[in-house]
Amino acid sequence: TIFASNPYYAEIMLKLKRVFRLESFRQHQLETILAAMEGRDVFVLMPTGGGKSLCYQLPAVCTEGSKGVTVVVSPLLSLMSNQVNALKEKNVDVLLWNSETLDHGLIMQRLRGHPKPRLLYVSPEKIKDSGALASIFDDLYRTGELARFVVDEAHCISTWGHDFREAYQCLDSLRDKYPSVPIMALTATANQVMVDDIMKRLKLRDCAFFKQSFNRANLKYLIREKKSKIIDDVCTFITSKHRGETGIIYCLGRDKCEKVAGQLRQRGMKAKHFHAQMSSAEKEQVLDEWQTDRIHIVVATVAFGMGIDKPNVRFVIHHDLPKSLDGLLSELNLIATIRKPGERDVIKNLLIVSYVIVKMINNARNGEELASPQARKRQEEQAKRVMEYCLNVSDCRRVQLLQFFGEKFDRRHCRQFCDNCSHSVEMLERDLSNEAKAVVSLVQQFLATKQQVTLDHCRAVFRGADTAAIRDRNHNRLPQYAGGKHLDNELLEQLFKRLCFMEAIDEVSIQGNGGWHNYYLQPGPKALDISNGRQRVVLFYRPK
Ligand code: ADP
Ligand code: ZN
Repeated sequence: TIFASNPYYAEIMLKLKRVFRLESFRQHQLETILAAMEGRDVFVLMPTGGGKSLCYQLPAVCTEGSKGVTVVVSPLLSLMSNQVNALKEKNVDVLLWNSETLDHGLIMQRLRGHPKPRLLYVSPEKIKDSGALASIFDDLYRTGELARFVVDEAHCISTWGHDFREAYQCLDSLRDKYPSVPIMALTATANQVMVDDIMKRLKLRDCAFFKQSFNRANLKYLIREKKSKIIDDVCTFITSKHRGETGIIYCLGRDKCEKVAGQLRQRGMKAKHFHAQMSSAEKEQVLDEWQTDRIHIVVATVAFGMGIDKPNVRFVIHHDLPKSLDGLLSELNLIATIRKPGERDVIKNLLIVSYVIVKMINNARNGEELASPQARKRQEEQAKRVMEYCLNVSDCRRVQLLQFFGEKFDRRHCRQFCDNCSHSVEMLERDLSNEAKAVVSLVQQFLATKQQVTLDHCRAVFRGADTAAIRDRNHNRLPQYAGGKHLDNELLEQLFKRLCFMEAIDEVSIQGNGGWHNYYLQPGPKALDISNGRQRVVLFYRPK
């Protein structure tokens, strides 16, 4: 390769084989390692499962280009101990110091003595609070034995991210205290704004930047609208396309997981639930049955991430919509990268979108009262992105998802591996701004006359339906009655959904007798933009 003449190359290849027992590098791993060993700051953006740890573990065990201890800052205790154990199995000299460490005297002794460990895994809280650690760092720095700071899950330092960690803030002083020590930052979730923010906070300079593509060719994206009860849609999908195959169904809450798993079992499928509130024994039992194919389907919350290390997953269904697009993408990437390279089997991701999507935004808005206003705003923003993704029936799913991560993707390379690309019929555009105006004025009319009207009823009025409910309330006399009779049902439904989504109309919930919630329509905060024509409403549809 072009790197063969690099002075570090020989040792790198040797350690790759001898220590890590691997044959070759994945995209950007070698480039990252070389840049690090040349003493540069490095930023690595790689999807989950892409192989980030090798990027700093390998330089740490090399003797050239890496003198002293590599300090790895990582936020998750379980992740740290997994990695440390894996390194110990490879006979790498490594120490771990976090809140679960009982005897830190021993660690200090090792860091002060000889030979020093190759790596020290440490929690950000220890860097922040431990004076003893700070003085050890000072000593190591003086003798030139701080090889590198590695900031894993670097997005935690950015307040733009949803995983912001207070203790990560202290890392912004590493550069000032130890100016000559190179820094490596790694993350799987950061868009361009966050990358810039992280670089600024860590004060990275002349930084080498590597980004692995987030595209996974073996994922096929499908979005379906809920047709009947979601559980029926799920079962139809499984029995018609994936009978007896292995899959995951994601739900948002523990109760939902248990309920859905039960419903699937009733229909003769081998399914079990998995969520964070189960005991470890219960979890292990499910994982074991899953690994050995005694159950086919796990109905889980996102807590089910570590256990999906299973090569024959064929489908991932989102029974409830994910809360954010980056959440969706990292979840799927994790599953998709477990495949052996070259394996072409497809994993299908099916999102089932129900009308409740509108309520999901409302939930993000009203729910979680403890969340700060900024946090709530972020949640709302993220929920909206998911909505946009679901409602967009024309752009390639890959283009949309990857764009979110600042990655440009050529639609032609999708090769019909998403629902929007595989429709043979071209989508047509239709400007429904006038119809939208009429709907908004209809909803305003109902409010002005203090009538509580559901979305279904309102749509029926606009369609010009001739029903008793409409005649009894004289809604067939309204000027907007039958204003949309020239539109087919599908387009009408899309129009109402779009208006809800744009917040031109809002569904508000009113609790009735017996705890029932009813949803009534009222004009939303953006109603005026529609009525005065500032905001146009353009829908895509497939000609029949
Ligand atoms: P990340 O931290 O990016 O989520 P990991 O570093 O945990 O990913 O690596 C994910 C998996 O990929 C691990 O099982 C690791 O052993 C494997 N892996 C990493 N690099 C390579 C490589 N060059 N060749 C084969 N397997 C690799
Ligand atoms: Zn596509």
